[in-house]
Amino acid sequence: MVKIALQGLLYDEKSSFMRGAAKAPPLIREAYRSDSANFFAENGKEILPETFQDAGDISIGQYFEIERHTRGLLEGKRPLITLGGDHSISYPVLKAFHGLYGPLNILHIDAHSDLYDQFNGDRHSHACPFARIMEEGLASRLTQVGIRTLNQHQQKQAEKFGVHIFPLSDWGLEKLPTFKHPLYVSLDLDALDPAFAPGVSHHEPGGFSTRQVLDILRQLKAPLVGADIVEYNPDRDIHGMTAMVAAKFLKEIASLMV
Ligand code: MN
Ligand code: MN
Repeated sequence: MVKIALQGLLYDEKSSFMRGAAKAPPLIREAYRSDSANFFAENGKEILPETFQDAGDISIGQYFEIERHTRGLLEGKRPLITLGGDHSISYPVLKAFHGLYGPLNILHIDAHSDLYDQFNGDRHSHACPFARIMEEGLASRLTQVGIRTLNQHQQKQAEKFGVHIFPLSDWGLEKLPTFKHPLYVSLDLDALDPAFAPGVSHHEPGGFSTRQVLDILRQLKAPLVGADIVEYNPDRDIHGMTAMVAAKFLKEIASLMV
């Protein structure tokens, strides 16, 4: 059976509004192992802890350590799931994937397009990773769903980079394009409505339900080579509800990889 590599990145230094996402990985793991649920994904696959080749939760000193560390885990083209951390981690993680696979199809699920050229003077802010990813040609195609905060600057950036944006105001599952191998999914939990996932730094009302995101994942036909689940902020959570949502996504994404 294919083992899935798993890493947690204890990193939130590139958060623009509120810290806290660095505390997420151990709490997502705890929710995943909670006795309140079993290990079965909805497709009937059992995602036991031994499914994962677990690199543990890693304290990051310097931003680009993330790339070096990730590269080490991809050996043998094993699929990898990364638990963030803030969304800035996706750029160095995808640099590592690009080194092995070349340009990737990326499905980015988020309230925000994260395409700022810079934010508060930082080109590596969590508001910028997909600008860097597109500038460096890491994506053969970038598809964004859940978006509901697009401003003129990011609209221009999207046009410049040829990003396919599906605003949530005009969403239907039938619009989801068909993806090609190698496919990577980047899931920012603020794509969900705050009613479903209150434990995020940026509450952006009018979001996806948990069910809608699960339906998107289930629709993916191309095998996933990697995924990240980012922006869980335990400081904002209520009774660990959002940790449980993140853990569910961890199981469901893993079930698409095994
Ligand atoms: Mn994001
Ligand atoms: Mn976001």
